[in-house]
Amino acid sequence: MRQRYGQNFLIDNNIANKIVKVADLSENDNVLEIGPGKGILTKIISPLVNNLTAIEIDKKLCEYLRFYFLTKNFKNVNIINFDFLNYVLSTDVCKIISNLPYNIGTSIIQKILPLKNWSISVVMLQKEIAQKMIAKPGDKNYGYISIFVSYYSHCNVLFDVSPKSFYPIPSVNSSVIKFTNKFKQKADLDILFFKIVKHVFNIRRKTILNSISLFEKKLKKELILQIFKRLQIDPSFRPNKLTFFDFLRLTDEIKKYIIRDKL
Ligand code: SAM
Repeated sequence: MRQRYGQNFLIDNNIANKIVKVADLSENDNVLEIGPGKGILTKIISPLVNNLTAIEIDKKLCEYLRFYFLTKNFKNVNIINFDFLNYVLSTDVCKIISNLPYNIGTSIIQKILPLKNWSISVVMLQKEIAQKMIAKPGDKNYGYISIFVSYYSHCNVLFDVSPKSFYPIPSVNSSVIKFTNKFKQKADLDILFFKIVKHVFNIRRKTILNSISLFEKKLKKELILQIFKRLQIDPSFRPNKLTFFDFLRLTDEIKKYIIRDKL
């Protein structure tokens, strides 16, 4: 068993069918599956679409899957033996489905959500991480990843999955999340927005006034206070009180005062 690859295989076909159903597949969907493993989801998806790309890091599992789909004469399934985090996708995908390797679940989400043109992503991941993704301002779980997810998508936790549905049994509970793309296009705003959000949550105990003053030394406290006044944000708040839209508006304001090559 290769624990370093987060290999807890789903063994419950009802759950697998439920996950695929949520993606609402149609024949022309170009589907990406990350970490197909022994193929419980792959085998359900493959008869439904013309094009399925599955990227799996484990060579032995890839050999098994290639053999399986070859013997079934499924020509629409492309099994790629690669580390997804280092893989450069050459084609557009419109739906993404995965029972994520939990050890790198957050990194995979950060890679897939900014991809262009996908419409729906359905993933299973550790319940605790799912809670961070859907957390709202004021929640103890609210932080960088919650805002990252809101920036790119609408997201809902659909249902939880018990450890007993996997082999080997993991020590954590799982949740299935559906992401719907918001199709953001403001590429230059992205960079500054995420720099600010990451910065303020790295020093999350400081007030938002102090953390923004540390973010950009050229911005004097008086000016930052004026910005907060205009935005009607209390400068004594900690960052976990600010909504996604507060951060967007704050980024827009800060952008007016800092030179472009800082972006
Ligand atoms: N989809 C299968 C299932 O539901 O039973 C397997 C899920 S298992 C939780 C995660 C899978 O991702 C494993 O097959 C593992 O080998 C694969 N994996 C882990 N890290 C990966 C990476 N960086 N790139 C691609 N696949 C990876």
